[in-house]
Amino acid sequence: MQYDFLEQSTRLLREAGRICQIDPNVMAFLAAPARVVIFRIPLKMDDGSFRVFDAYRVRYNDALGPTRDGTRISADLDLGEVKSLALIMSIKHAAGRIPAGGGKGGVSANPRELSKREFETLCRTYIRQLRPRGHAYDVPGADIGTDLQSMSWMLDEYESITGYHDPAAINDKPPILGGSLGGYEATGRGVFDVFEEAAKATGFEIKDASVAIQGFGQVGSVAASMFHEAGCRVVAVSDSRGGLYAKEGLDIPGLLAHKQATGKVADFADSQPLTGQDLLECDCDVLVPAAVQGVITADTAYRIKAQMLVEAANAPTTVEAEAILLERGITIVPDVLANAGSVHLCQMERSQGLADNYWDIETINHLRHQRLVAGYRAAMNAAAKYQLKSVRLGAWINALKRIEEAMQMRGWC
Ligand code: NAD
Repeated sequence: MQYDFLEQSTRLLREAGRICQIDPNVMAFLAAPARVVIFRIPLKMDDGSFRVFDAYRVRYNDALGPTRDGTRISADLDLGEVKSLALIMSIKHAAGRIPAGGGKGGVSANPRELSKREFETLCRTYIRQLRPRGHAYDVPGADIGTDLQSMSWMLDEYESITGYHDPAAINDKPPILGGSLGGYEATGRGVFDVFEEAAKATGFEIKDASVAIQGFGQVGSVAASMFHEAGCRVVAVSDSRGGLYAKEGLDIPGLLAHKQATGKVADFADSQPLTGQDLLECDCDVLVPAAVQGVITADTAYRIKAQMLVEAANAPTTVEAEAILLERGITIVPDVLANAGSVHLCQMERSQGLADNYWDIETINHLRHQRLVAGYRAAMNAAAKYQLKSVRLGAWINALKRIEEAMQMRGWC
């Protein structure tokens, strides 16, 4: 059956709202994004030809504060994906007690098919056509297909339009332009922070645990290093070009250097090749999907061997698959908690930018860890209160209650 991201995320929304009896007026408003901008980007290509790209920005709900978060540039991006991600961002901020709403944007384009000049023009035109209104309204950040460089171009374009510096208007920029230390590593490190807390809560032994990671980009590669440094065996890793397996554990520093040199994980020494699907079903204790949504379906859920699923990617597990995994007694550390390191970091980036006062890495790492652990514990408590096996629903319930209270206090419903 075709994976329908938007149907899956709105189903979760309705289920969490039903369980904790959220005001029907709040639910009616949350059934769709508050604001959607659809626009088109014209681009003159290096060879003289001309192309047009579809672009989006969705502000799902801003009851708790300005909308914030990522800009995804990928070939098959569509509006449904952006709406789903914006909803998940609203939940992630609210579940983490961050005073921000959920936003997401992007362009349907394959960055690999563009030259550096074409890609820079695309990023700058995205901001010119979007016409963002600054840090108190909506703050674009990075996601798949965008990075420190893309966000630097976007900030520069925004500041050129307004004529003044406003570092807090764009997130995920480098420290030299007013970004925060620890930004690149925040999500991957945070995945490990929350995993560690879940392991403590369930009595799971971390030392020598075997770990399989799908996706070896910004999040997957940093998470791999964290698991490796903690004494786990990272036995399998994949990216979009293939995967690897080594029962005794992969040499992660060596693999990082190999990926840097060749652009892929495949063909690394002392390992066997493995497909992406085989990775999900391989012999391991911890499975970490760190690539794209919807990869763990009901069929796959029956075959997963891991005892713990740590969702580094957004929405990697379908609603049907989660029910099967929980029934099988597998611990799920859900996306809105496991990969929330970046939203906590973006909150710190904003605080530093607005105050024009920049913190050391120890402060940032300490606060990220503390806030992630607090969010996980709060979701565990909510799940226990409503007698749910799903910590994900616990997090969504906490988030919806905060959004409901903010909407009611504002007199929206
Ligand atoms: P990235 O583009 O840096 O890396 C993605 C990785 O996944 C790459 O290695 C790519 O080759 C691989 N990949 C893509 N499709 C694949 C497939 N079908 N099978 C196996 N590997 C595949 O992206 P990222 O920033 O690491 O983000 C990964 C996931 O984490 C996304 O779901 C993203 O939304 C989520 N996330 C990222 C952040 C962040 O701070 N970057 C924060 C929260 C959530």
